[in-house]
Parts: sequence; structure tokens; C-alpha cells
Amino acid sequence: MSRIIVIGAGVMGLAAAYQALLDGHEADVFEASPEAGGMAGHFDFGGISIERFYHFVCHSDHPTFKLMAELGIADKMRWVPTSMGFFNQGRLHHWGDPISLLRLPGVSLINKLRYGLFVFICMQKHSWPGLEHKSANDWIIRYCGKDNYDRFWRPLLMYKYYEYVDSISAAWIWTRIRRIGKSRKNFMQEELGYIEGGSKTLVDALMNAIEQRGGRLHLGAPVQRVAVENGRVTGINALAKFFPADAVISTVPTPLISGMIPDLPSDWKARYEAIHNIGVICVILKLKRSVSPHFWVNISESGIEIPGVIEFTNLRRVGDISIVYVPYYMPVTNAKFAWPDDRLQQDAFSCLQRINPALTHDDIVDVKVTRLRNGQPVCETGFAAKIPPIQTPIHGLQIADTCFYYPEDRGIAESVRMGRNMARSVKGT
Ligand SMILES: Cc1cc2nc3c(=O)[nH]c(=O)nc-3n(C[C@H](O)[C@H](O)[C@H](O)COP(=O)(O)OP(=O)(O)OC[C@H]3O[C@@H](n4cnc5c(N)ncnc54)[C@H](O)[C@@H]3O)c2cc1C
Repeated sequence: MSRIIVIGAGVMGLAAAYQALLDGHEADVFEASPEAGGMAGHFDFGGISIERFYHFVCHSDHPTFKLMAELGIADKMRWVPTSMGFFNQGRLHHWGDPISLLRLPGVSLINKLRYGLFVFICMQKHSWPGLEHKSANDWIIRYCGKDNYDRFWRPLLMYKYYEYVDSISAAWIWTRIRRIGKSRKNFMQEELGYIEGGSKTLVDALMNAIEQRGGRLHLGAPVQRVAVENGRVTGINALAKFFPADAVISTVPTPLISGMIPDLPSDWKARYEAIHNIGVICVILKLKRSVSPHFWVNISESGIEIPGVIEFTNLRRVGDISIVYVPYYMPVTNAKFAWPDDRLQQDAFSCLQRINPALTHDDIVDVKVTRLRNGQPVCETGFAAKIPPIQTPIHGLQIADTCFYYPEDRGIAESVRMGRNMARSVKGT
């Protein structure tokens, strides 16, 4: 048995602590925020508990399903036929299936066939090692052509990655296309899932399971420093106290690692610091009327600087109101990241009005703005070689965050898998 300290009570940290307890260890979880959940956390939106950042489940999210079954909440999984839209040249089009592609105006038949073939190939391949050193834009242009890239892909990548747009890994994009593309009921019908009650249902069940097995959750307890002696981890400092441990598992975003663990060798710190993240802001609007019938609307339209909007209530219905997430991804150095909430709210609503001109300010019931500085790792070409090993040179110290399961995109299922695997690799003392 080891005394394990887990840093971070997002799903990765909670899954690590849960697994550690199953394996007979002691576990303490330290979380900086007053609430658990991390990126999958909730807030109270005028009586509705909902995610700070939109979350859907795909059919390939097996680690989530296995964990839910163990926690006795498998019956909370819901599957919904969903659709995608595409807003381009002032019009909203149906999107995401072959018929919609063929019906799209303003695109030549040859370009439609190239686009369709590209997506088909992406779905058929089980591995694609050659993509690791290709950039997403070169790869997409090669298969789809420049016109298709500029119309369908560039705005999605540009209004997420900005100055990093030309260096994003093709392997990362392919894995993402595949995960969402494979979540279908049949060839023509996309099907996405949600957990009844939202991600909080999973987070709460994990917290209960940890406490029932004798684990301890310390919320509002940021870890200031990981203590190291003679090359071995000895514990952590938090809440102005020292907590001893035989093993420490850190799940906090890599940009925070060097500050929290000053005893790491400088070449290791440099590796964590070389991993960039972009921030994300979500403007979440509660509306009296729906913007569109689609869960996700991709946007490629001059004057709109966001990749798309997510009408969450087209997946998880909440009464007869509509809840829409308008995400602004960008490096936190971008001036827009410092925009005040009211400016973002106006910008977000004007985007929605362009998609659905019938919307008026009277339709707005409530608005909330959520922000995250480390919202998405920037997975550049050759990223696999940039990821440091999970086991650090400090004995007993493991470090991972959402970029460690590259080429998979950040996601609850992969964080669960990663957290459990980290706990399993702790040896008893
Ligand atoms: C906009 C957005 C949309 C998303 N959509 C989906 C989706 O549709 N489906 C899906 O599966 N996934 C989605 N995700 C991804 C998913 O939320 C994440 O992959 C997952 O929640 C990450 O969990 P984690 O525990 O690995 O990391 P985090 O949730 O980042 O947890 C890390 C925790 O560490 C804490 N921490 C930081 N510093 C310290 C410190 N010094 N001491 C103690 N604690 C500290 C943080 O507060 C945080 O709680 C989305 C994420 C975002 C941002």
C-alpha cells in the first residue's frame, strides 16, 4: 500500500484516486477550485445545473462507459440523433452527411467528391502513422484541394489556433474527425450522447466512490509545491501545511508544472514549458427560441471570428428554452481574450442573429461567460516526440494532462483512461 496524493480533481485526478483506492492504496486529492470537475465542472444557470463548457459523448468513449458501469450510473447514458449545420455565405445549410454535401450550393461537383472521399478515407483508416509529421493544412489541401480547405477547414482552424494555424498536426485532426464521424446511428444519421444531469453526474459519482473507500477530497486547496528529497517525492505543500506521500500524481495543465515543482531538472521543465495551450471563453446564452435545429453549426463566414456554435439543448433538452454555447478559442495573448464580458456577449449574440435573423434581444433570458486559460493544448507536427514520459526522473512522481493522450483530442474518456493507468502504475511500498 502507498500513500498517494493526486493533484487536480478534474476527471483525470478523480479517476486516478478512485483506481488507487480500488488497488488498495490511500488517496488524497487536492483541488485548487472550490468545486471538483475541472473542465467538466458545472455552474448554476438560473436553476439549471449545466457544464461551464459544452460536453457530448461519442460512441467510442469506452473508458467512460466502463467507469459509469462500475459506479452504478450506466443507466444515466442517453443517446440522441443529432445534426450538424454549416453557415456559409449568409445561409445555414444542413451538414454532416453525403446528401447535404451534394446539395451544398456554390461548390463544384469535383470538390464535393474530393471532400466526401477525404472524409470516407479518414473513417476507414485504423492507423495513419505518416500523419505525425504532416501539418493539418498541407494534408487537407493535398486530399481536398485549396478551395475546399479555404471554405471548410481554414476558418475552423484559424479561429481556434490563430498564429499556430499552419503548424497543427494532421494526426490530431484525423483522430478528431474519426471520433466524431464514427459516432453515428447509421451512414446518414449522427448520434451523440450525454449523461443525464450532465458531466456532474459522473464527477459526483466519482467523488462519492472515493469518499466511500476512505479517500479524502481537499477542495479549494491549491498545491503550492511538490516536495522532493534525494530524488524522490516526499509529499506536497497546500493550505500552509505539509502532506506526506509515497507517490504523487499530477493532472494539472503542463504550463503550471514548472512553478509547482521547482525541483524538476531544468531540461524537464523546458519540455513542459515548450507545450503551448490556447485559452477558451464560452459565452453561454439562455434563449426563449432556438437558433437552429442543429447541435453544432460550423461557421465559415466573413466577419464572424468563431469556428462554430453549439446549441446544447438540441442534444440535452432542458424544458422549452434553448441553451447555446458560443466558444472563443485563442491564445491568451490575443487582445480579445481580455475583452470584458459585455463586449463578448454582444459579439456572440450578433453571430447568432446572423445565423437566425429572427432572434431579438427579447429572446435573451440569461447570459454567462466562462473562461479557461489552458483550454486546449496546441498539438503541433511531431507532437508525439514533445510529450515527456509520464514517469518523471523524480521517483514516485507522475505527471500528465490532456495532451499526454495525443493524438486523441482532449476528452473525458481519455482523461479517465489516463488517470486510471497512472494509479495502476504506482507500486506498493
Ligand atoms: C470548451 C471545452 C469543450 C469540451 N468538450 C468536450 C466534449 O464534448 N466531450 C469530452 O469528452 N470532453 C470535452 N472537453 C474536454 C474535457 O472536459 C477534458 O478532457 C477533461 O475534463 C479534462 O479533465 P482533466 O482532469 O484531465 O483536466 P482538468 O479538468 O483541467 O483538471 C485539472 C484540475 O487541476 C486543477 N488544478 C490546477 N492547478 C492546481 C493546483 N496547483 N493544485 C490543485 N489543483 C490544481 C484545476 O483546477 C483542474 O480542476 C471539453 C473541454 C473544453 C474546455
